[in-house]
Amino acid sequence: MHPLPQTARMHIASVVVSKVGFLFSLVFCGLLLLLIPALQPTARQVDLPLPRPQIRTSGSNFQQLSEHPTMSDSAEDMHRAERLNKRSGSMNDALDIQLFESNDYRVTYSEKYIDPDSNSEVQGQTLAGLGARDLLELRDIFIAVKTTRKYHKSRLELLIQTWISQAKEQTYLFSDGDDIELQRRTGANIVNTNCSAAHTRQALCCKMSVEYDKFIESQKKWFCHVDDDNYVILPSLLQLLSSYHHSQDVYLGRPSLDHPIEAAERVKSNGLASVKFWFATGGAGFCISRGLALKMSPWASLGNFISTAEKIRLPDDCTVGYIIEALLEVTLIHTYLFHSHLENLQKLPTDNVLEQVTLSYGGYENRRNVVSIVGGFSLAEDPTRDRGTALPEEGKAVQHNLLFVLKAC
Ligand code: UDP
Ligand code: MN
Repeated sequence: MHPLPQTARMHIASVVVSKVGFLFSLVFCGLLLLLIPALQPTARQVDLPLPRPQIRTSGSNFQQLSEHPTMSDSAEDMHRAERLNKRSGSMNDALDIQLFESNDYRVTYSEKYIDPDSNSEVQGQTLAGLGARDLLELRDIFIAVKTTRKYHKSRLELLIQTWISQAKEQTYLFSDGDDIELQRRTGANIVNTNCSAAHTRQALCCKMSVEYDKFIESQKKWFCHVDDDNYVILPSLLQLLSSYHHSQDVYLGRPSLDHPIEAAERVKSNGLASVKFWFATGGAGFCISRGLALKMSPWASLGNFISTAEKIRLPDDCTVGYIIEALLEVTLIHTYLFHSHLENLQKLPTDNVLEQVTLSYGGYENRRNVVSIVGGFSLAEDPTRDRGTALPEEGKAVQHNLLFVLKAC
């Protein structure tokens, strides 16, 4: 046999090399294919629940308020903001805290009230955009109405005829005397708090204290407080609260002022410390989730509410804000769906009236505090406003007569 020429040998060698290379790359590709599933991240067995977003019903208003010219960057406020951010991880909390003023501006309680006339968005706020999150029923809500003997006839009768008739089982009227006759005739739950009938800070706090205890005892999911000149639009209340969960820390209401109130807090060493916090005005009504209410217990239950109020010497609604914002560091969710008689309800856009959560009628100082709604009764048809009809049957919301609000005190 003749040895192969040099060129032929080289050719065979290169063919062998390329075949080996080809085989090698085939094996490599096969291995890669086998490895692909192993390299992929393990698939999740179940869809984890998404974190519940913090809903602010007053998004745009809030923005507006946070542009307050006296926005603070004081060390104390920054510290507080930082603490709150750590606690909740929420940007909104930081915004809240920026509203705290660093100057030594003191407010008096009588200065309560954000002028809605200067804030058109506040007037037109609606429930639109709130998603339902809690399967809530009206019977899950405890509604406390603060009242006094002298208003049983002029105010309570009207409430019982109107919205309370649709929420009788869970609405409690906290008064300072018995009214067996009214109770028997209407079936309303009237609680005699045995508190003083005076319109003093102590008497009002005494009633709030009993309201709180009665709520805790009730096992209901939400505590809502209103005054006896408030009209509650129950479907709106239900819709608003359904946007949250009762086990979360929720304190909802209309801020009384456009800045936190500053109070002198009596501290242990008999000294005074300054404390700032937001509070929801009781005259418009406010709500607290059960989860948060339980946390308030050391300062609110079994008469402790009265001694807590004494520490800051402010009325009942301020004391609620003090316990929640200052002591528990839970932020008030500002919502403008609650209305006190200090507002001019005529400015409420007609279409939005039924989406509000509470309305309130005026006294002598704001007599014509009447809302206009499509399909409502005219003033001539219902001059006393006592005829505010009971809540509408489904589908008849627009017929709902809210004109009761002109009721004079
Ligand atoms: N109220 C009370 N005792 C009184 C006077 C008033 O408990 O001596 C209650 C009243 O029933 C209402 C709330 O306090 O629920 C607020 O009273 P009002 O609307 O007369 O005054 P406001 O403080 O709203 O101007
Ligand atoms: Mn009032």
